[in-house]
Amino acid sequence: MPERIDSYDILIVGAGFSGMYALIKARELGLSALVLEAGSELGGTWFWNRYPGARCDVESVEYCYQFSEELQQDWEWSERFATQPEILRYINHVAERFDLRHNIQFNSRVTAACYVEADNLWELKTEDEKSFRGKFFIAASGPLSVPLKPTFPEQDAFQGEVLHTGTWPQQPVDFSGQRVAVIGTGASAVQCIPLIADQCSEMTVYQRTPSYVVPARNRAMTQEEVGLVKSDYKALRDKAATMQFALGARYDPEPGSFSEADFEQQQLQFEKWWQVGGLHFLYAFADIMLDPTANKAAAEFLRNKVRQIVDDPELAEKLVSHGVLGSRRLCTGSNYYETFNRDNVHLVDINESPILRFTPVGIETSEAELVHDIIVCATGFDAMTGALTSMDIRGRHDLSLRDKWKDGADTYLGMQVAGFPNLFLAASGVGTPAAFSNVLVSIEHQVDWIYGCIAALTTTGKQTIEPDPAAEEWWVEHVQAVADMTLFPVDSSFYNGGNVPGKHRMFLPFAGGFPAYSDKCQQVATEEYTGFLIT
Ligand code: FAD
Ligand code: NAP
Repeated sequence: MPERIDSYDILIVGAGFSGMYALIKARELGLSALVLEAGSELGGTWFWNRYPGARCDVESVEYCYQFSEELQQDWEWSERFATQPEILRYINHVAERFDLRHNIQFNSRVTAACYVEADNLWELKTEDEKSFRGKFFIAASGPLSVPLKPTFPEQDAFQGEVLHTGTWPQQPVDFSGQRVAVIGTGASAVQCIPLIADQCSEMTVYQRTPSYVVPARNRAMTQEEVGLVKSDYKALRDKAATMQFALGARYDPEPGSFSEADFEQQQLQFEKWWQVGGLHFLYAFADIMLDPTANKAAAEFLRNKVRQIVDDPELAEKLVSHGVLGSRRLCTGSNYYETFNRDNVHLVDINESPILRFTPVGIETSEAELVHDIIVCATGFDAMTGALTSMDIRGRHDLSLRDKWKDGADTYLGMQVAGFPNLFLAASGVGTPAAFSNVLVSIEHQVDWIYGCIAALTTTGKQTIEPDPAAEEWWVEHVQAVADMTLFPVDSSFYNGGNVPGKHRMFLPFAGGFPAYSDKCQQVATEEYTGFLIT
């Protein structure tokens, strides 16, 4: 007898913030849905990234769902920037509150997804050879869910423990008395280095590219400020939606441009936003990401802060970045630079002393062999496209997404890909402002748009939707043109695939800001999905 294949209206891959919200929306519309999740639990990013110090860099009161006023009112964030355990508690609270678990299948990694043209259905296959069918396929597989593991010569020779921040063990790691190596100095490293250094006996940080790190200025939330937010949460959310990065609505970004201010005023404004802390530093002038002079001045201001904090001037010079500020996501830290004043913390600049190989007891550079018990790889992710291309997704005429994206990850509005009918991307980051925004705002916006589209199709009796290739081409060119008007694409980073050896270089996110993007999506929907082919 042929195997029975379960069928749904909506198949969702991923049980992070996007997949959970996609499930809630399916229920709202009375559609049957199943979520397939590779992990053994909910949470996505916040399930996998459990390293010490992991917390959000968007204020907690904004880094949460806004679709339910009751949920917003009931949940109470304890800190300005919530820790990973608190965010995971919130995610579980949402799952219980909306009774999500029984439509989620854990330990189910999707390896293949195929559009069955004859039946106008998607068929998904999991690692354990199970198949599922659905009319619509929503890939909520995450912008940063495929860890990038470095490949150094003789990596397997090391006899200690090798950890990656993006697949951290479920149980806390005990670093006491350990000689620890941290490879990488991006946002994850910036968060975990100070906490691990507190515990371990010796720490060596292997740095390839220094980051700009602004103090997070994390603290407990006061009852007064929580009360203020909750007294008109909607106003806060509405304001965020009008802001370039859709975050920081408790503050008022400076409207003026850098060149309008004199030197003293410029330094005062930088200092003011340094004191506010976190990503908000980019709000010191309206044109920090547009005017190279403004950007250079902001960068120099940050370099001078490092020179003040780090006792050893030579070390301080190694820690300062000379890249374009903001062309990689600005890091927010707590005691990051201060940690390098500790006697048990050492920096290896691997541009000067490259890593040659791992050895049974540690890492050999061109200068020396250093002994470690634990190596922490804070080496990032195959961002945005990685989760999608790690599945074998096939659309019309067996067209493979991997093949299509070999020379560029083309999408229309970051929502759909030509040749892949009824496949929607939820906050993959490609062709959308998600990476530059409070991702939670982008997630709800995109998922709402997707279900608006599905509802429009269903009520008009239509069967399929996919981008017109001409519209897709236009969007790809538009994303590039907008990026080129800014300073975002200048440096190599995961925004353009530059962090993954051999990956096609293309600036992936939409740099025109959340308001411009959401306006465009709204316009397309209002005009009955211009640029899409509907059958
Ligand atoms: P994810 O949370 O990544 O969830 C995707 C899920 O899909 C994962 O659980 C994964 O296991 C699953 N999956 C992937 N492929 C498959 C497959 N083939 N089969 C089955 N399941 C699959 N953004 C902000 O705006 N502010 C922040 O402060 C912030 N902090 C961050 C901190 C860290 C350490 C990291 C790594 C990212 C951070 N981000 C932040 C970005 C963050 O990824 C998003 O905010 C958000 O959590 C993404 O949710 P998601 O559901 O789209 O993706
Ligand atoms: P990342 O920003 O890509 O940083 C990876 C680091 O590892 C970089 O310093 C990189 O150097 C280094 N690296 C990679 N491969 C290497 C190799 N083979 N040898 C030596 N060094 C290597 O990754 P991430 O720190 O995990 O952060 C990714 C994103 O996740 C962030 O931008 C942010 O969006 C999100 N995040 C947010 C927070 C938060 O504050 N809430 C925390 C963590 C992550 P190069 O730069 O030279 O490639």
